[in-house]
Amino acid sequence: MNQIQIGRFIAGRRKAKKLTQKQLADILLISDRTVSKWECGKGLPEVSLMLPLCDALNITVNVLLSGEIVSEAEYQKKAEENMMNLMKENAENKKRMALSVICGIITIIAVCSLIVIAAYIDMPTTARIAVIIFAVVTAVLGIWAAAQLEVKAGYYECPNCKALFVPTMGEYVKGYHTLTKRKLTCPECGKRGMCKHRIVR
Ligand SMILES: [Zn+2]
Repeated sequence: MNQIQIGRFIAGRRKAKKLTQKQLADILLISDRTVSKWECGKGLPEVSLMLPLCDALNITVNVLLSGEIVSEAEYQKKAEENMMNLMKENAENKKRMALSVICGIITIIAVCSLIVIAAYIDMPTTARIAVIIFAVVTAVLGIWAAAQLEVKAGYYECPNCKALFVPTMGEYVKGYHTLTKRKLTCPECGKRGMCKHRIVR
């Protein structure tokens, strides 16, 4: 899906309806920064906002996702393409998330094994230190790889303005987290909160 084309299309439809970004945002009960972000091609509206947005712009979701008014003949083809793209994106995110979990599990098993080896197997002190260093390096690399995969799997949802965003690696690593939520600063409204991880849009 071409976010830039969709963004320009939203802007064009909004202006045709003689609405400002703020007026459109008020209709959708979101911030005008979110509308601005869509129009700049920096993100797509989340699924729950698509119907209200299309109503406000007098278009169908299919037309929105195509980023252009499509003819009757093209319509079916575009609809299938749009659906496939959404499904593909969600499938890729699920795959990344699964890989991240597998990566985490392998890291935990490897690090635990190394710690057991260092603690219980008879060996010279230098060898023991080498095994401990190796365990630490494995832990750091494993966590880094798992984080790399997870940060790209899906989006985080701002509890305040409901914007979906992908945090930067720095933000992500620093953020206090539970299994499903992470403390992040929302790039939309600038507020800091526990953002829910959503794998699918
Ligand atoms: Zn926000």
